[in-house]
Amino acid sequence: MKKILILGGTTEARQLAEKLVEDFRVTLSLAGRTESPVAQGVPVRSGGFGGNEGLAVYLRETRTDLLIDATHPYAARISANAAQAAQMTGVPILALRRPGWEPVDGDRWTQADTTGDAVHALGPAPRRIFLALGRQEVAAFEAAPQHHYLIRSVDPVEPKLAVPDAAYLLGRGPFREPDEHALLEEHRIDVVVSKNSGGEATYGKIAAARALSIEVVMVRRPFLPEVPSAETVEALAAMIDHLLDPVAERGV
Ligand code: NAP
Repeated sequence: MKKILILGGTTEARQLAEKLVEDFRVTLSLAGRTESPVAQGVPVRSGGFGGNEGLAVYLRETRTDLLIDATHPYAARISANAAQAAQMTGVPILALRRPGWEPVDGDRWTQADTTGDAVHALGPAPRRIFLALGRQEVAAFEAAPQHHYLIRSVDPVEPKLAVPDAAYLLGRGPFREPDEHALLEEHRIDVVVSKNSGGEATYGKIAAARALSIEVVMVRRPFLPEVPSAETVEALAAMIDHLLDPVAERGV
């Protein structure tokens, strides 16, 4: 059986791994950041490889036949490392690239290139801000301590933000629109700060903000390397079948 390494950390990576596991020897790789990751149902390795060179060594040592980058669209470093390691080793690479959200009628989006720009976009006057960002990104908001912050993360934000007025929520998606609507109302939120993650699981807050006419400061996606890619698990699985042809391999 051909060996596939899936760089994961997303729901789609897990779904893809579960889909491929019957026909291929699949390993799912996680960064190891989340304290209690969701059970994956396939063999998992955890932790960084040591940059592009470490990943290249891993691909050679494990005789991996195909590398799949199914990481989150904001995980730009691992995606760059993956493209470079594939080039260094000659191992083919495919990516699962979830399309971003597009603003629709009624949305009040302000686009920001970075989290630093998102901080500036909030302006000088105190406002009530919902930060739906990873715990690594929220530290940037210490530069604007005049605001009230509601911060939601999968794992606790430690250390806490050095601002006088912040509340913390723990939660792992999917988040449904009615619940997000209730949350934004309950906390009297003026602005939602979000990444353009795409997909359904975290769109609820964007739809709820639209319904409530609340501004969304949307942090743009980072640059990702150009590699052959698909937008859905099904489309990527079809590309993989075409490339590695498990049926021919089984001699059927
Ligand atoms: P990143 O900045 O692109 O990567 C930082 C380093 O973490 C990489 O250089 C690599 O270390 C290691 N790493 C990242 N993903 C890995 C993986 N799947 N397997 C093994 N090592 C990995 O990534 P990040 O933004 O911190 O995200 C970390 C993980 O969380 C990713 O797997 C991503 O899919 C997931 N995630 C991220 C976000 C987000 O908003 N950024 C949201 C949801 C899930 P070495 O250089 O030592 O190999």
